[in-house]
Amino acid sequence: MNSTEWQKEDMKYIWHPCSQMKDYEELPPIVVDHAKGINIYDVDGNCYKDVVSSWWCNLLGHCNPDINKAMKAQLDKLEHVIFANFTHIPAITLCQKLMEVIPKGLCKFNFADNGSAAVEMALKMSFQYHQQTGNKQKVKFMALTDAYHGETIAALSVGACDLYSSIYKPILMDVTRVQGPDCFRCPYGKCRDNCQCECFEKAEEIFAKHGDETCAMIVEPLLQGSAGMKIYPPLYLTKLRKLCDKYNVHLIADEIATGYGRTGKMFAFDHAGVSPDIMCISKGLTGGYMPMSICITTQKIYDAFYADYLSGKAFMHSHTYAGNPLGCSAGIAVLDILKRDKTIEKANKRAPYFNKIIKDKFLGLDNVGEVRHIGLVNAIELVKDRDTKEPFDSKLRLGYQIYKKALKKGVLLRPLGDIIYFNPPIIIEEDDMDFVTDVALECTKEALSEIK
Ligand SMILES: *Cc1c(COP(=O)(O)O)cnc(C)c1O
Repeated sequence: MNSTEWQKEDMKYIWHPCSQMKDYEELPPIVVDHAKGINIYDVDGNCYKDVVSSWWCNLLGHCNPDINKAMKAQLDKLEHVIFANFTHIPAITLCQKLMEVIPKGLCKFNFADNGSAAVEMALKMSFQYHQQTGNKQKVKFMALTDAYHGETIAALSVGACDLYSSIYKPILMDVTRVQGPDCFRCPYGKCRDNCQCECFEKAEEIFAKHGDETCAMIVEPLLQGSAGMKIYPPLYLTKLRKLCDKYNVHLIADEIATGYGRTGKMFAFDHAGVSPDIMCISKGLTGGYMPMSICITTQKIYDAFYADYLSGKAFMHSHTYAGNPLGCSAGIAVLDILKRDKTIEKANKRAPYFNKIIKDKFLGLDNVGEVRHIGLVNAIELVKDRDTKEPFDSKLRLGYQIYKKALKKGVLLRPLGDIIYFNPPIIIEEDDMDFVTDVALECTKEALSEIK
């Protein structure tokens, strides 16, 4: 069958994630045959540069020989086993190796199989902790405006991206919302590179009112991905750590997107020099190979569940694929590669070049409001009016027009609204940086000229 025939078969059966399926009439799904490094190849041999890391999870390139080798070796030994009362060497080894790189104080690992599940687990864990330590009044959660924490009901509740959650409002949990940092449109007229997080007063106000009834505050540290790669300073986290301690509120770090070097350090919290009470990791954990996540916490939280069986204090949460050995083998390979190749350090050396060419190419356009970056993540926010920062009418679907054009030219961009971003595998080299930014610029100019 040729690709058109495969596409017809696809659309007969498959309901794709996060898509208006009617859009597929005009833009049918690309039928992928294989991939290597940052290149994805379709069945007709067309190549697409994957600068979104296939939904931010592919860390070290597709079909990485070392990860492939590790997983193949594991496959012939053990594919999966129940993780209650049973364990295996890949899971233990993965935890040993993670201990070397995670923020200080975190030491107990509870496995799940996707990011949203890890967020659910973190929320339940925090709630149960407070129930079992004499704080029955702590029954609520706090989260930032523009947050994204996944798609299951509790994860959607702590999230605040209307596009994903507004229809479900009647069935979501009631979450206390903290007006978070908005550095591009800072209401205090400050700039993220030298402010004192004046906006943190909003958090202080909310904690004063609701801290006592709150179990935990969950944040995407430094980088709010789905909100449009919004970036805020580490000082915010340092202050939040202190505030959470003051009110006996757990600080949950959703490092699902920010972990594994995406922000230039192993974890985004490392920039702030403080540790969360619970940390959720997924995406980069297996290099984007296997659905796996871990909720990592402290001895103190663990101890609040540790008692005689009849006390009823156990954490009765499980996922069938918890601790899957194939996922663990990929996870070990990823950590071994990062250590052996110093991948993050090397990525940090190439990051200024990437940011520079993006600034050089895009800041000349009238409709670029801001180019922001952290690590290799770069975002270009397009606005109707640069002075007032007024956005374009979302009905124009400017970002989507750019997406379609870029695909034709061999780059997988997938803008968030009108925010074009790059979040490539961290092995990306300069020649690919040149190519993908050239294509993005051309497509942006074309799309802008068409809507004017
Ligand atoms: C992707 C993501 C999630 C959800 O992970 P899934 O595996 O898609 O359920 C949660 N939080 C953040 C910050 C994410 O980027």
